Formats: sequence, structure tokens, C-alpha cells
Amino acid sequence: MEHDRNNPISPLFPQAVHYLSREHHHFSFSSSHTPALVVDPGDFIHVQTWDCYKGAITGPQNALAAIDSSLINPATGPIFVRGAEPGDTLSVTLHDIRPGLRGVARTYPGDGQLHHLVSEPFAQFFDVKDGIVRMNDRVSFPASPMLGVVGVAPESGEIATMPAGRHGGNLDNNQNRIGSTIHLPVKHPGALLAMGDMHASMGDGEICGTGIEIAGDVLISTELIKGIGTSYPVTETATSWITHGVAAVADLYEAMRIACEEAAKLLVDHWGFTMSEAFIFLSVQGNLGIAQAVHPAEGTVIAKMEVPKIKACPKPFKIA
Ligand code: CA
Ligand code: ZN
Repeated sequence: MEHDRNNPISPLFPQAVHYLSREHHHFSFSSSHTPALVVDPGDFIHVQTWDCYKGAITGPQNALAAIDSSLINPATGPIFVRGAEPGDTLSVTLHDIRPGLRGVARTYPGDGQLHHLVSEPFAQFFDVKDGIVRMNDRVSFPASPMLGVVGVAPESGEIATMPAGRHGGNLDNNQNRIGSTIHLPVKHPGALLAMGDMHASMGDGEICGTGIEIAGDVLISTELIKGIGTSYPVTETATSWITHGVAAVADLYEAMRIACEEAAKLLVDHWGFTMSEAFIFLSVQGNLGIAQAVHPAEGTVIAKMEVPKIKACPKPFKIA
């Protein structure tokens, strides 16, 4: 799409030919949501996102405010990608992620891996400036911005933006970061892409239930892989590709099994491995990990299997 470089659509991202403000958001993924933007594959799009609390946590005065779980994780969208048809894969590249200046992380009684050691809810604000996150006088570290929620309309029904699933959603994979491409299974015309839940930083597991929750701006583009589907999202970085497995919170082992199966299936179906070779290769070179495990909070747990890009499997999909 043509645009005037002297009058860019987005001052933040001059490459963008579309801008989608966070006014356009939903708390679920569904094929019934009306597209907020129509794009062609390859178009650069500036997507503005809310933080997961939709801006409700503004300072110490409301840092611990209870928030209705149906109002968590607004996802900006949906974006209709022309030419996307059921059975295709929508590849979403995150060219840039710019968090705002201030984020927050919170603990909740009864949630997360250390909940039994902490009885009071607690909120920590973080300042983000010039790529550095400042937690307090002693603790600072580099920002590693990422998107917690990225997904498309699911095959059937409406799925809240809180859980993850085959459609993507709240995958909370901290490798969904600048430079990564997320491959999503298209189930409806246009795919209906949406995203949100930016974190200035989030560790594997997100053990207390939040990353550094922050609003911001994202520069994306999309591509279509026609006629090749994926059963769960696959993230591709410069050096690896990563499958996901999602299960109910008590079933981390099931989530791990699914992530392993997804990786093995791609090695067998696309790269000619036997299942035994895939099993061995993933054992000796794959990294099985946890994207999100806020046990014992309700919801989903998410496992990931990271496969190195080598000559024998340089991408997740072999495209003729
Ligand atoms: Ca999240
Ligand atoms: Zn989040």
C-alpha cells in the first residue's frame, strides 16, 4: 500500500502503512468480532496496545485494586489479512516492540510458585527508560520487551484472552519478542489477528502471574503460508523454532508432551526425520521449557520446545 513518507501514518514507525489504536480491542478471540483493520500480507502495521489491566493500575493509590478477570488482557484487533483462508498459516513478525515508561508486576494471595511464602498482595512499579528497567535503587536490568497475547480467531466459539490454546492467545512465551515471527493456524477468512499483554520483561514461567505489565506500541507485518497448517502456534527466532503445548493448570506434564509432539511432528512431516530420530534429536538438542506456570492459579500452563535451526531443519515448515 502506498503512503507518503513526508506524512507518515505513524511518527513512531515510519515504515507503517497502517495504524491500529488500542481503542479497537476485545477480551476474547472469536470469528464474530468485526475486523478493525484490513491489511495485505507484507504491510507494516503499527499496533498500539494496552497493558493487561487496560490502564487501571496508575500508581500506589490503586496498585492492589481488584480487577474483574473478564477485563484483563485487552487484545488490539482484530486485523483481517487479505487472502488468509482456513488451512493456511499466518506468520506475524514482530519488527519492534516499544514499551511505555512505567510498568507494574503484582502478586496475588494463593497464586504462583511462592504464594505459600507471601501472604500479603504486593505491587512493584518499574520505570523503563532507554532500554533499561529500574525496579529499585539496587535492582536494574535490560528490558526484553515481548507480547504475552498473540492470536487469531479460534476454530469455533469464543475464547477469552486469559487462557492460551491452539489459536494462540495468552501464550506468554518470552521469545515472542523483537525479531521473532509467530506462526498461527488460520481457521477463518482473514485470520482475525489480535495482540496485547505487553511485558517490558517476563521470565520463563511467569511464576507470580505477571510480567512487567505495560502499555506500548508494536510494529508488525504478516505473511501467509498457503495450504500449510499448524495445530498450535510456532515461534521462530533467528536461531531456533519453538513449539507450544497448552493444558489445564494441573497438567504441566501434558503441556510438555504436547510441545514435544508438535516439534516431533514438524521434524517428521516436513524434514523427513523418523519418529525415533525426532525423539532422539529433541532429547539431545531440543530445549524443553516452561512459558507459563502460575500454579496453583486457575487457567492454563504452557510448555515450549525449542529446536535449533540447523541444516536438517532450518525452519519450522518446509515450503516448496
Ligand atoms: Ca500474560
Ligand atoms: Zn501480562
